[in-house]
Amino acid sequence: FAPWEDPAAKPYISFQNVTKRFGTFTAVENLSLNVYEREFFSLLGPSGCGKTTLLRMLAGFEEPTEGELYLDGQPLKGVPPHKRPVNMMFQSYALFPHMTVADNIAFGLKQDGMAKPERDERVAQMLKLVKLEQFAGRKPHQLSGGQRQRVALARSVAKRPKLLILDEPLGALDKKLREETQFELMDLQQELGLTFMIVTHDQEEAMTMSDRIAVMDKGVIVQTGTPAEIYEAPNSRYVADFIGSVNILEGKVTPAGEGRIVLDGPDGRITGAVRDGAPATGETAWFAIRPEKIEIGRTPPEGAVNRLEGEVWDIAYLGDMTIINVKLASGTVVQAATLNRFRLVEDPIGYEERVWLSFNPDSGVVLRS
Ligand code: ATP
Repeated sequence: FAPWEDPAAKPYISFQNVTKRFGTFTAVENLSLNVYEREFFSLLGPSGCGKTTLLRMLAGFEEPTEGELYLDGQPLKGVPPHKRPVNMMFQSYALFPHMTVADNIAFGLKQDGMAKPERDERVAQMLKLVKLEQFAGRKPHQLSGGQRQRVALARSVAKRPKLLILDEPLGALDKKLREETQFELMDLQQELGLTFMIVTHDQEEAMTMSDRIAVMDKGVIVQTGTPAEIYEAPNSRYVADFIGSVNILEGKVTPAGEGRIVLDGPDGRITGAVRDGAPATGETAWFAIRPEKIEIGRTPPEGAVNRLEGEVWDIAYLGDMTIINVKLASGTVVQAATLNRFRLVEDPIGYEERVWLSFNPDSGVVLRS
């Protein structure tokens, strides 16, 4: 049992009907959310949807306009930031400019009265985590943006707060370093048993690190789930589109039995599996399917429940996979992705070829909004 599936599990962080207004503007609206101890939880959503505001309320830099916030069962109302067992790393990580990297990392530990030998050991461990052992004696202005971000990360992890709140912690790192640091953060979290709540724009990063993700839109959470749930069973076009690439095919609903419906669309009929609640006959609905779940071939696929004919419009070779955009008769472009398992593909599909796309009704999901 994962804690979020266990009705008896006690949440570590609990937002209960929290609203935050700035003047007449509502940044967070009647939001409820439980996060459990040792969870790696990510907030994902477009700029301005309220992610940072949510974190700031948890850290104590903002108070909710309405609603209650609890940490480990204790109400947080009126508790100042420094009295919360929370450490927040901001997007604009302010390092002390006159201090060395090592002193910046050691600062909080020193304040807490940690003895020097232990402090030095902790600093060394943190420097290793962020791969800055060689830079311990430098000042922040002698570092690159990515290196400064790693110092800030090391500083926020050093104190091993029970709850670590990170706002875009890896945003300034290049792709390779970012990927490495993601795995190291996960290892650290496991090892130390910390609870992480992080904000990111990067859906791949959220998928890689998180136990669960909440997708936000305009101050509300539109879906919460594990990375696989969010990817495989998005509950709306908005979520489907926010996480990864997706094809959305529209049509009018006719029932088909066995948990399936048929969508009558501009390019023919598509049969799709219904996950929660079938849309009514005659309604408009959408079938969402990921590019890698679509087969592409030169001949009409025999026995396929769903097949669409079209013309190859764009091809992008990405190394691990090739993306092929196919234009259907209605003008809709459908994206198919093939995994490049072998080094050379003989006679690969080319531009302007007539092709057939096929997919299983259960490989995608019918959406009502
Ligand atoms: P980003 O990814 O760009 O950081 P976000 O999802 O973290 O965005 P927030 O910083 O939480 O967004 O802001 C949510 C909304 O609240 C924005 O429209 C922002 O302009 C507004 N907002 C945030 N803080 C204040 C404030 N102190 N006064 C007025 N409006 C604010």
